[in-house]
Amino acid sequence: MPDVVVVGAGVMGASIALETQRAGLSTLVVDKGDAVGGGSTSASSAVVRFSYSTLAGVTAAWESRHRWERWTDHLGLATSRDGAPQARFHRVGMLFIEPPGFDRWAFLDNLEIVGVPFEVVDADDIAGLYPALDASRFWPPRLPDDERFFDDPDGRVCGWLSPEAGFIDDPQLAALNLMDAARRHGAELRLRTTVVGVERNGGRVAGIRTADGSTIDSPVVVNAAGPWSPRLNRLAGVEADMAITNRPLRQEVHAVGAPTGFGYGDGGTMVADLDLGYYTLPQPGGSLLVGGIEADCDPLVWIGDPDADEPTPTVSVWEAQVWRLARRLPSLEIPLRPVGLAGHYDVTPDWVPIYDRTSLDGFYLAIGTSGNQFKNAPLVGQIMCDLITACEGGHDHDADPVRVDCHHTGRTLDLSAFSRNRTPATTTGTVLG
Ligand SMILES: Cc1cc2nc3c(=O)[nH]c(=O)nc-3n(C[C@H](O)[C@H](O)[C@H](O)COP(=O)(O)OP(=O)(O)OC[C@H]3O[C@@H](n4cnc5c(N)ncnc54)[C@H](O)[C@@H]3O)c2cc1C
Repeated sequence: MPDVVVVGAGVMGASIALETQRAGLSTLVVDKGDAVGGGSTSASSAVVRFSYSTLAGVTAAWESRHRWERWTDHLGLATSRDGAPQARFHRVGMLFIEPPGFDRWAFLDNLEIVGVPFEVVDADDIAGLYPALDASRFWPPRLPDDERFFDDPDGRVCGWLSPEAGFIDDPQLAALNLMDAARRHGAELRLRTTVVGVERNGGRVAGIRTADGSTIDSPVVVNAAGPWSPRLNRLAGVEADMAITNRPLRQEVHAVGAPTGFGYGDGGTMVADLDLGYYTLPQPGGSLLVGGIEADCDPLVWIGDPDADEPTPTVSVWEAQVWRLARRLPSLEIPLRPVGLAGHYDVTPDWVPIYDRTSLDGFYLAIGTSGNQFKNAPLVGQIMCDLITACEGGHDHDADPVRVDCHHTGRTLDLSAFSRNRTPATTTGTVLG
């Protein structure tokens, strides 16, 4: 009988398995799919940035960034073994373009406290650093069918730079690296295994039931099922006892050719453009990825069953995101048809994740990652391992929240920030957290 069953072999489940197995808890990971990281992880833009509205969010992202930078060490390997491919962190920096009246210090104060470098920039700085960008103010974000979409700009923008930000070049490979490392320590993986029931023994979890009718006994079950996690919570009967729940939201990311002077290694940087309502990042192959940041005019597409949704992009969202980018980046050539993908965030009301225990003893949650937690996956394994070890050892986490040691940055992370019973945090209410 495994000490821990993790449901979900996405980047979160894989990271949790590595840490629990490394801590001496025999771990079994089950996933209904046929590949590690084939869920929302595979759709991730994998941006690693540090700007969150909460101190806990900044602390987790800054600590995790150090783990991505030392990926081989993090995985517990002396070198990148046998030439096996490894995901890589690419530091390209990020430019945040502010909308009018933006309270930048709600973000920058936290960066200062944690020690994350940043630089406030005005329109002249932006134009000097990134000549391909038009530093005009286009606000507010509009849909392309709005007759004012092509209105003349009104003023110039400002913002801040985050020079240490970057991205991971292959998020699914990152999940696979974590799972391979977990398996080298002895963890077991079962793909094509759908969990259809959560076994209970009184107020305690007793294991899982799978679609082939078999049961797997375990004293600890972790819900790391991403956009499918609400269904698993209902099977476990814990959702009604949670103040914060989550639900799947459809998201599209598009690819366009990077114009000369704004590509990867060619003057490009990541941009979170709150003035126009999109984000973009340069990719090593010569493209730019473009995604949305929940501008007020963009409809939110909540999904009942992620499996029933089409993974293909739509013309309307493609136009909205790419045309906005083209206003900022006038040399962009707009392709004739959409190229991209659709995935799902699993979103909480405050866009902050849930890393917690539940009212069912032994049943834990690493969910609600709200489109912004891929970057924190290397730390989430430790978060969940510390939490499980403490709670299974009799610690009352609800009364006295566990604190996690962030050994690269010397900070501690108070897990009450990620509680299922928190009062919703004050955040942007978007993927920016
Ligand atoms: C389009 C998009 C862009 C994003 N961009 C960024 C970004 O730039 N930066 C960032 O930090 N984050 C980003 N994210 C968020 C990030 O990718 C997610 O937070 C992260 O990948 C979630 O990982 P996970 O392991 O929780 O979920 P998943 O990867 O979805 O894994 C869950 C797994 O559970 C399995 N499963 C579900 N139900 C069952 C069941 N009943 N039985 C067995 N298995 C089950 C699924 O098959 C799946 O493999 C983005 C997400 C999306 C969708």
